[in-house]
Amino acid sequence: MTALPKETKVIIVGGGIAGASIAYHLTRLGWKDVILLEQNKLGGGTTWHAAGMVGRLRTTNSMTKINQASAALYAGLEKETGHSVGWKQVGSVIVGKSKERMVQLHRTCAMAELMGVEAGIIDAAEAQRRWPLMRHEDLLGAAWLPHDGKVVPKEVPIALAKAATQRGAKVLEGVCVLNIEQRDGRVTGVATEQGVIKAEFVVLTGGMWSRELGLRCGVNLPLYPVEHHYVVTKPIPGAFDELPLGRDPDLCIYFRGEGNAIMLGAFQKFTKPWAVETVPGDFSFKLLEPDWEKYQEPLAAGRWRIPALEKCAFEKFVNGPESFTPDNNWLMGETAELRNLYVMTGFNSIGIASSGGAGKYLAEWIIEGRPTMDLWSVDVRRFGPWANNRSFLRERVTETLGLHYQMAWPNREFETGRGLRKGPLHARLAEQGAWFGVKNGWERPNWFARAASDARQKPPPATKPEVEYSFGRQNWFANHAAEHRATREKVAVFDQTGFSKFLFKGRDVVSVLQRLCGNQVDVPLGRAVYTGMFNERGGFESDLTLIRTGPAEFSIISGSAQTVRDLDWITRNIGPGENAVLQDVTTAFSIIGVMGPHARTLLSRVTDADLSNAAFPFLHAKTISIGQALVRAVRITYVGELGWELHASMDQALLVYDTLMAAGADLGVTNAGHYAINSLRLEKGYRAWGAELSTDDTPLEAGLEFALDWKKEFLGRVALLKQKEVGVKRRLAIFVLEDPEPVLWGGEPIYRDGVCVGYTASGSYGHTVGGAIAMGYVNHAAGATAEFVRAGQYEIVIGDRRWRAKVHLRAPYDPERKRVLG
Ligand SMILES: Cc1cc2nc3c(=O)[nH]c(=O)nc-3n(C[C@H](O)[C@H](O)[C@H](O)COP(=O)(O)OP(=O)(O)OC[C@H]3O[C@@H](n4cnc5c(N)ncnc54)[C@H](O)[C@@H]3O)c2cc1C
Repeated sequence: MTALPKETKVIIVGGGIAGASIAYHLTRLGWKDVILLEQNKLGGGTTWHAAGMVGRLRTTNSMTKINQASAALYAGLEKETGHSVGWKQVGSVIVGKSKERMVQLHRTCAMAELMGVEAGIIDAAEAQRRWPLMRHEDLLGAAWLPHDGKVVPKEVPIALAKAATQRGAKVLEGVCVLNIEQRDGRVTGVATEQGVIKAEFVVLTGGMWSRELGLRCGVNLPLYPVEHHYVVTKPIPGAFDELPLGRDPDLCIYFRGEGNAIMLGAFQKFTKPWAVETVPGDFSFKLLEPDWEKYQEPLAAGRWRIPALEKCAFEKFVNGPESFTPDNNWLMGETAELRNLYVMTGFNSIGIASSGGAGKYLAEWIIEGRPTMDLWSVDVRRFGPWANNRSFLRERVTETLGLHYQMAWPNREFETGRGLRKGPLHARLAEQGAWFGVKNGWERPNWFARAASDARQKPPPATKPEVEYSFGRQNWFANHAAEHRATREKVAVFDQTGFSKFLFKGRDVVSVLQRLCGNQVDVPLGRAVYTGMFNERGGFESDLTLIRTGPAEFSIISGSAQTVRDLDWITRNIGPGENAVLQDVTTAFSIIGVMGPHARTLLSRVTDADLSNAAFPFLHAKTISIGQALVRAVRITYVGELGWELHASMDQALLVYDTLMAAGADLGVTNAGHYAINSLRLEKGYRAWGAELSTDDTPLEAGLEFALDWKKEFLGRVALLKQKEVGVKRRLAIFVLEDPEPVLWGGEPIYRDGVCVGYTASGSYGHTVGGAIAMGYVNHAAGATAEFVRAGQYEIVIGDRRWRAKVHLRAPYDPERKRVLG
């Protein structure tokens, strides 16, 4: 039995690459009172058998920064610790067999430049020169990333732990954590077989074991182990260790040199979860049984791509289980359920490439008490408890592993684990041809199938709710256009049930909200307010609509993805003596949007309330009748037209919907989906949290100063005042392509006078402005003034082409005058 210390500042649970990286970085930042507990031996979980490939480029800036930090750490680790981790900068070659894949590779390379990663497109012959054993006749080209590399994974935690111990940390092997100790919603330590260790912070880095430990202490960590397969051949003439990392996503395989042999791994479209009741605690330096049957497809693909594999013998088959999450991103940060419990787990097959850097950012997060850059895509709070259902996880993870190599189609939707959260309109909308997407588990209509208005309609609309993905116009282009135009010209009904909804009650709600929100919230009863909530750096923690429903009561509405996060942010900012309680009422109400110039006419037919401008002005809310139902109607719009959002209790939502549709046939009332919301709000310049607004973006940069009340104190005000004084270095702008043909999806580089200055945060097709539309930040270190932004000539990169774009700082569409601004 190991004699355990009684107390420490930080306990890290799990000695894989993730846990060791956090120990390394915490001690590097000066925290020495750190204990890492590993139930078996360091690196014996998933880490030891990984393929060790370290790619630098990811799809977002934050994730790329993390992988860049990993690569830089591994490259210097031997020098720092004297322990070799086998780092070799061999580069990567990603080959493309199809036209669509080449478009994706062009998109990848275009973003790489912006994110500081060297990447370029090479032709097939050049790809073959870099990987001489590879067949190249069927390839259209490849991407080449010269700075990617590989490590020997099992050595990395040892080197990291060595550095951490030299700086004062303790690493104890053979200590299994049985539970997380807690009091009053805060961690107090951990219980082990050898006794309790008290701690101020606990960091859970238990890989595929984390979910079960989380359940024991009331914390949701939705992840589940999946089988991941690779083989290593016996020596092959012509193979050598310095061969680049090879990826053939069209064939769902990866390959690299392993000494004078070849490693061939698979990311098949659908994979197998590990059907295990409980992940065994002693699964250390172990593998699952080889599954040659499942491996036949990748093996055949490998033999096609590398003909030398036809006749070779195999040295080993690695069938390693590893944890996957519902969206293929790992789980990181402080949990909403338990204060000072941090997690970094569920690495979805990129834990070697990402843990080195992620450990740095989590260590900073722990020490500073907040993330030091936007980490929302991996924030553990993005999932509600619904996502932690084991049956759902077992189904969803069969899809997530394969996603690494599936086409990253715009608006790609999950095929598995669907239908978990449905609003009351779901069945009715399905009958009417809704194509549903999923957000935070909610099934949301994105667009509706429809018949062609006449046989000559070009392009014809999709008549069935089925998507044909592409980087260009997808098959629902005409459906989207019809819904967009119906909202601008007539009236449309939107099911927005998935929005997050809260009830905030108590004597001190006004003072709490005044402190957290940038806008003035002490408004008369029945008034609605749009506001941001900011962190100390002035970045957006959220943006939301508040409705004052009582002297000490507010209804709060925010985006579908933000439920747990907003609940957590507001709750953690209620002071100890303050009387205010926030309740999540998302599943109690439906929100039905009625938007368009005929919205008043339609609603007036089914209500006895006076909806005139004088009686029901903008940003006001009232309880009104809709047929035989009662709703809270809020005069607000996210699409830039006259409209009301109707908050109906779940039991009456269908009645409200049916009443509206029956009453509005002659007005041309139409179902419209979330894709129409997106294009309509872009034309009107409305920002979206999670796209244009993140913890790294301030309201001054985002052009939302109008929603700040400088006269009151609020969190972030000091930082914002300072930024106002010095001026912003980036400014959000709206872009409309001059050519009406292409479409934008977000993630496209923006060029100003030939220089890359940013990338689009979100994009769509603006059917009123008559072209693709996007929003994105223009970066300029010397000051991104409005004049600077306006003075530039802009181009946006789509694939390998640049398209001229008009820039706007105000909405390009003015609904008051119903005209498009030049
Ligand atoms: C076949 C295969 C190939 C891969 N190839 C690559 C690759 O090329 N590149 C890449 O980036 N990634 C790759 N990965 C993914 C990578 O291996 C993982 O993402 C990474 O190792 C996860 O590290 P971890 O520290 O989170 O988990 P682990 O290495 O599993 O570490 C978790 C540790 O926590 C310990 N633990 C759990 N519960 C407790 C407890 N209660 N008390 C004490 N200790 C506990 C476990 O014993 C374990 O040692 C691959 C994975 C597989 C399966």
